[in-house]
Amino acid sequence: MVAGARGMASAFSHAFAAVALVGGIAPRRDWRFWVLAAGSAALPDADVLGFAVGIPYESIWGHRGFTHSLVFAALWAGLVLFWEFRNTPRFTPSWWRIWTFFFLVTASHGVLDALTNGGLGVGFFAPFSATRYFFPWTPIEVSPIGLRSFFSETGMRVISNEVVSVWLPLAGFWLLASLVRLLWGRFRKA
Ligand SMILES: [Zn+2]
Repeated sequence: MVAGARGMASAFSHAFAAVALVGGIAPRRDWRFWVLAAGSAALPDADVLGFAVGIPYESIWGHRGFTHSLVFAALWAGLVLFWEFRNTPRFTPSWWRIWTFFFLVTASHGVLDALTNGGLGVGFFAPFSATRYFFPWTPIEVSPIGLRSFFSETGMRVISNEVVSVWLPLAGFWLLASLVRLLWGRFRKA
């Protein structure tokens, strides 16, 4: 099942997408923080380990199942706060800001996967529902699972496709957002 199985966007694209989309509301900006954010965006694909112990792809606990769900993103964000932000008083506005950041970073993973053109869909509502979802528009070439297949010819094609369908639009989005912020700052000063 593992060899030749498909169902990822690459970890790099997950990290890049998450940081480009919600990096603007990051509660901290040191390297340790960015590693945690990038790791959170890539984490849901740890579920491919399930293939090794025989969990079927289509199971709630299979690839693109529970770890790609909104419930998982919510729980993981809570765990990050518990682990890394112990000193932030619980349920205060700054606590919720950090929670929202890590929720969005982790949930963006499933959103990106639901934009890929292969594998099974994303179990956004696991563990309550086993239904898998794709968006109606799936511009991202699905990536083979596993490092060995990833660094093959298909992997290279996937990377170049991701550069065009994920990195460039997000870089454009980021530039536009920076420009709007810059102009808005000027406008307010004037
Ligand atoms: Zn995934």
